[in-house]
Amino acid sequence: MKKFNFYSGPAVLPEPVLQQAAQAVRELDGLGLSLIEISHRSKEFTAIVEESVALVRALTGLGEPYRILWLQGGATMQFLQVPYNLLNRNATAAYLETGAWSRKAIKEARLFGQVHVVASSADRNFTYVPKNYTIPNDAAYFHITTNETIHGVQLHQIPDSPVPLIADMSSDIFSRPLQWNKFSLIYAGAQKNIGPSGATLVIVNEELLGRTDHPIPTMMDYRNHIKDNSLLNTPSTFAIYVCMLTLRWIQQQGGLAVMEERNRRKAQLLYAALDQSDLYRPVVDPADRSWMNVCWVLTRPELEEALVRFAAENGCVGIKGHRSVGGFRASLYNAMTEEGVRHLIDVLQHFERYHA
Ligand SMILES: *Cc1c(COP(=O)(O)O)cnc(C)c1O
Repeated sequence: MKKFNFYSGPAVLPEPVLQQAAQAVRELDGLGLSLIEISHRSKEFTAIVEESVALVRALTGLGEPYRILWLQGGATMQFLQVPYNLLNRNATAAYLETGAWSRKAIKEARLFGQVHVVASSADRNFTYVPKNYTIPNDAAYFHITTNETIHGVQLHQIPDSPVPLIADMSSDIFSRPLQWNKFSLIYAGAQKNIGPSGATLVIVNEELLGRTDHPIPTMMDYRNHIKDNSLLNTPSTFAIYVCMLTLRWIQQQGGLAVMEERNRRKAQLLYAALDQSDLYRPVVDPADRSWMNVCWVLTRPELEEALVRFAAENGCVGIKGHRSVGGFRASLYNAMTEEGVRHLIDVLQHFERYHA
């Protein structure tokens, strides 16, 4: 039996995407060759890159001077590639600290220049998004993490920034419509919401580049990847193909407005069930709760292991919280169905009644 997959990443993908990906590994579109045995410079593969770029442009409405790149190294590499390309030694970058991932981004940026943390929610264990802060006018850029995958907080308002706005969107990219041109640079590891691990989507306003006073190694310089249309060296061809299929799927489903509608509904169902229970307690302030990663704890922590086991026996996997925070987390990315969420709620309610 196919299980309901609540893992945080790599994570659930749409069933038709998995089927097409499996087929393409056998043979790509009647080509007589597997997707994973053709050159990244073949016309078949360059067409895949071109379609993926066109889909990102269609979903976001972003034209020039934005450039769409597929890179490697994950979002973790972007923690350093962003300041490498945009931050001078004597300049300051502003960061909003909302959880484990923004904290890691801050740590890397400090290797390149000054970092000004405009606000942090560390005082309450990253259970809310700080609201009142000032972004310095002279900062090189302002960095946010739109969804904190580990702590389960999400920015439901994208802040206005007087300086270039940069976002780590690894775990909520294409989960909702956004005013995309508010951002100067967006990056996302593919394995949460748009594909398998191995590819990182970067959307960058080209006008931002070329202003640093230090040399940038070839592979680190966004301009080289732009020049070579993401084919500077051998990219993760399989991952890019599956991302392209997922982007197609998003568009076929009706685009980002439909994703938002479904994601809001799924999250509301699960939070409502947790809120009205005596055993489960969501940890994040209601206004800042993530629609992607729903985090909760038990009022009776001694039942944790039993719940993990009970959920697994009943077809729900991946609900254990991140090892650094404990508790539980259900990831409800685009590809998670409402049926899956209703099934999880059922399982949680059965468990609570059994232990009442
Ligand atoms: C998973 C994740 C990362 C790290 O991604 P990698 O691809 O493993 O480097 C960074 N930021 C956020 C918000 C994430 O969810």
